[in-house]
Amino acid sequence: MNPDILIERFLEIVGDRGVITDPADLEHYCTDWRGVFKGKAMCVVLPQATAQVAAVVRLCAAENVPLVPHGGNTGLSGGATPDDSGQQVILSLSRMAAIRSIDGIGETMEVEAGCILQVAQEAAAESGMLLPISLAAEGSAKIGGILSTNAGGTNVLRYGMARGRVLGLEVVTAEGEIVNGLRQLRKDNAGYDWKQLFIGTEGTLGIITAAVLQLAPMPRHKATAFIAVDSPEDALKVLRAARQEIGEALNAFELMSGPSVDLVVRHLGIALPVGAAPWYVLLEATSSLGGLREGVEQLFEKVFEREEASDGVIAESERQEMELWSIRESITECESRAGRSVKHDVSVPISSIPSFLQVASEAVERAFPNVRVNAFGHAGDGNMHFNVIVPPETDALALNRLVHDLVVQYGGSISAEHGIGQYRVGELVRCRSEPELKLAVRVKRALDPRNLLNPGKVLPAFLIAK
Ligand SMILES: Cc1cc2nc3c(=O)[nH]c(=O)nc-3n(C[C@H](O)[C@H](O)[C@H](O)COP(=O)(O)OP(=O)(O)OC[C@H]3O[C@@H](n4cnc5c(N)ncnc54)[C@H](O)[C@@H]3O)c2cc1C
Repeated sequence: MNPDILIERFLEIVGDRGVITDPADLEHYCTDWRGVFKGKAMCVVLPQATAQVAAVVRLCAAENVPLVPHGGNTGLSGGATPDDSGQQVILSLSRMAAIRSIDGIGETMEVEAGCILQVAQEAAAESGMLLPISLAAEGSAKIGGILSTNAGGTNVLRYGMARGRVLGLEVVTAEGEIVNGLRQLRKDNAGYDWKQLFIGTEGTLGIITAAVLQLAPMPRHKATAFIAVDSPEDALKVLRAARQEIGEALNAFELMSGPSVDLVVRHLGIALPVGAAPWYVLLEATSSLGGLREGVEQLFEKVFEREEASDGVIAESERQEMELWSIRESITECESRAGRSVKHDVSVPISSIPSFLQVASEAVERAFPNVRVNAFGHAGDGNMHFNVIVPPETDALALNRLVHDLVVQYGGSISAEHGIGQYRVGELVRCRSEPELKLAVRVKRALDPRNLLNPGKVLPAFLIAK
């Protein structure tokens, strides 16, 4: 069908203000957050209801037009960016942003996919509950994107990945059928748990239109501490001690290398809250019951006595808590100011973190002269951002391969939380076993046999066609 006629048909479905075709307005939708991936699109379609999403998908299926679902565009793998053919249609659910209901007894929220994460968090907080998905992009990322990428963030250690929050899901399939599974049930073993197919599959199997999320009680007490340690081994001893002293109240356990914190100190002029050290830990504990500060003080006593930590500070105020967190959250920005960096969002078993960091750093520095490893991450759940600041001429793919091969040797994952998108498609094929890839292809062929949903993302076309 001629694109002009197709656009007319979209307008009939979603109304006058529901289609964007102006090249200047399309630009934002066709460029990813970091400006690394750029594409072209025929148009952006913005439905206002699930029935409209279904009608758009049916029309695209009938006309063989590929669709690229688009959330807040904060994904770091190019998953929401179209290819450069100009033939793909971007589907944005930003006009479907309602919080449909909140249940204070069952601690659940039914929310549409276009709702910004922070808006959903605030609505939960107004009802005295916590939506425990938290990441630095929460002011822009949307529920549909969060669930499609199975986002992680800073409190996975306690609350798990986004998948763990989903009780019910509403999706539109590749044929344009609405499947309503918006149940509020914690227990539901009636047949296949099909919703898991759409969580973390980056819009390649269906469109998420709404979800029922499990909320949690809002903690009333918080303790945040910044700790200086000599090595990742010592950091894990502090983690073990923290689990013993404050147990399930431990929310976040972030590990930062000395050089990564130095970048923040240098670029933002922030004063170090503790004495200089080779590594630092930022930990946060929250609870509905009191006694947290005492727990962290006991932790300090033990780790100092055993010389597992050299210095530490507990935040005295909300402002100081924010200052400590801002050191951790500014690392990515300061890294980009330090020059070109090659990023690896990897996970390994928690107890292997020290060995992995040492072996990978030595291997990278041996193979690529003049590079600097910038390692930091959510060590409490095994996820490290093993980034490398490199000279402009460095072969990024060769560097990726070196790091990912080591990750595989450690039984790790080449994408802990940022997904595959278009960025890591080749590496997924290289690093996952053949039976696992075969299984993934069978699922894709079953649910989207013509590869019209986000083609080129997660699985390469040649594998699906084979
Ligand atoms: C500063 C910063 C910090 C970040 N920190 C973290 C972090 O700590 N942890 C983490 O996990 N991620 C992090 N991210 C990555 C990003 O925020 C997450 O991947 C987020 O889940 C993406 O949501 P989004 O709405 O922006 O999705 P988009 O980027 O728009 O899309 C992401 C993917 O989901 C698909 N998609 C979007 N909406 C739908 C839908 N309704 N149905 C089906 N598919 C859909 C898209 O096609 C794409 O493949 C960070 C990003 C930034 C910029």
